[in-house]
Amino acid sequence: KRAFLNGRIDLVCAEAVAYLISARSQKALTMAAAQLEGGLTRAVDRTRLSLMELLALLEAEIDFSDDDLDTTPPEELRAIARRAQEEIDRLLDTFAQARMFREGFVVVLAGRPNVGKSSLLNAFLGQERAIVTEVPGTTRDVIEELVEMDSLPVRLVDTAGIAEPGGPVDREGIRRALVAAGTADLVLWVIDGHEGLTPDDLAAREEIRGYPRVAVVNKVDLSLALDPGRAAGLLGEEEVHFVSATEGTGLVKLREAIRESALGGAPQQEVADYAVNVRHHQELLAARDALGSAMKGLAESAGPELLALDVRDAIGALERVLGLSVSGDVLDMIFSRFCVGK
Ligand code: GDP
Repeated sequence: KRAFLNGRIDLVCAEAVAYLISARSQKALTMAAAQLEGGLTRAVDRTRLSLMELLALLEAEIDFSDDDLDTTPPEELRAIARRAQEEIDRLLDTFAQARMFREGFVVVLAGRPNVGKSSLLNAFLGQERAIVTEVPGTTRDVIEELVEMDSLPVRLVDTAGIAEPGGPVDREGIRRALVAAGTADLVLWVIDGHEGLTPDDLAAREEIRGYPRVAVVNKVDLSLALDPGRAAGLLGEEEVHFVSATEGTGLVKLREAIRESALGGAPQQEVADYAVNVRHHQELLAARDALGSAMKGLAESAGPELLALDVRDAIGALERVLGLSVSGDVLDMIFSRFCVGK
C-alpha cells in the first residue's frame, strides 16, 4: 500500500501482489506474475494515452472553432475511438477465463445417496478426504476440494447425502451444495450403473435442471443394469460417461470433458499478461459504454463538446483501473485483502 501511495507501483500491480499470494494454480501464478511485471498496466495505459490524444483533438476543435483552422476529419477521430474500443474488448474477453484460473471451475457432484459421489471426489483427489461409507447419507455437509486438472483449478463440490426421513432422495443436499457453490459451472449427475436408473435419480436431476451437466454412470466394474448403447436416450442426456470411481476407469475421459466444458473447444486463449479482475471489468465496461456513446455522437455529427465529455468519461474509467483516481474506500477494500495471517 505504501508503494502504491508513494507512486512506485500502480493499483494493477498492487493487486497482482495479492493474486501472487493467493494463487492456487500454476496458471494463476503465471498470470499474477505477468500482471505484476506490468502487462495489464501497459495495455490499459496504451488505450488511455490514445484516448488522451483523441481528447486533445476534440478540445482543439472546441478552442479554435471560431478560427478557420482545419478540423480533424471525423474518420480519423472514429478510427482512434474504434481502436480503443477493440483494445478494451480484447481486455474484457480475458475476464471469464482469468476468473476461472484464479477462482477455479466449479463442478458439483449430484445424485441420489450411494451412487458413488464421494468415491468419485476421492478418485479425483487421489486421496481420502471425503468420508466414504456404505451407509447412505453419511456425508453430512457440503464438501469442497480444489484439484488441478492440467493447470485448470477445479473446485469439486460434493453434495451432502442428507436422506430425509421417509424419503431417501438427496434433493436437499443437492440444493445446499448448489447454494454453497454459489454457482455451478458444471454438474456431474452421478448414477449407479449397477442398480440402474431409479425414480430417485430422476428426482435428483430435477434439482440440477438449468445447469450445464453431464451424466456419469458409475460402478462400471460391476454388472451393468444400463445398456451403454441406449443410456444416452434413456437418461435423456447428450453426454454420458461410464466410469468406475473405485477402479479409476473412464476418469481420464471425464477429466477431459470437464476441461472441455471449462475451456471450450477453442484453442486456449493466452491470458497471461492481460487478465482482468471484477474491478477492472466494471471499469472497462464503463469505458466501453462511454466510447460507444462517443462513436454514436461521431456518427451523428455531434459537437466536439459532447464528444469530449464521453471521451473524458472513458479516460476516467481507465484511470480508475490503474488507480490514478480511486476513492479511499476502494483502496481500503483492495488492500484489506493483503492482511496475511490476520
Ligand atoms: P455417495 O453417497 O454417492 O457419496 O456414495 P459413496 O461414494 O459413499 O459410495 C457408496 C458405495 O458405493 C460405497 O460402498 C462405495 O465403495 C461404492 N462405490 C462407489 N463407487 C464405486 C465403483 O465405481 N464401483 C464399485 N463397485 N463400488 C463403488
